[in-house]
Amino acid sequence: MSHALAFWAVDAKAGEPDLWVCMSCLSEVYRRKVPMPHCPTCHGVSTFEAFTLDAIRDWGTDELIAKADAAAAERELEPLQAPGPSEVHAAE
Ligand SMILES: [Zn+2]
Repeated sequence: MSHALAFWAVDAKAGEPDLWVCMSCLSEVYRRKVPMPHCPTCHGVSTFEAFTLDAIRDWGTDELIAKADAAAAERELEPLQAPGPSEVHAAE
């Protein structure tokens, strides 16, 4: 597993599906990104479509649902950007 995957970042508006599932092998799912140049499992190109977690739970395999759960949980782990400027010093 030394080969790092590269991804396209995919923007999603609030409330829009942001979990990208490979419709060819149905075993890869990523949140707000798709692997490039192709799916690492089936090597399919442009096979990813966006779904909500609820939709995936509806029709996905147990394995896919587990991966979708993990991908969706990433949003809770993402560090929030501190809004304040960091270059301001309190004292000279
Ligand atoms: Zn695939």
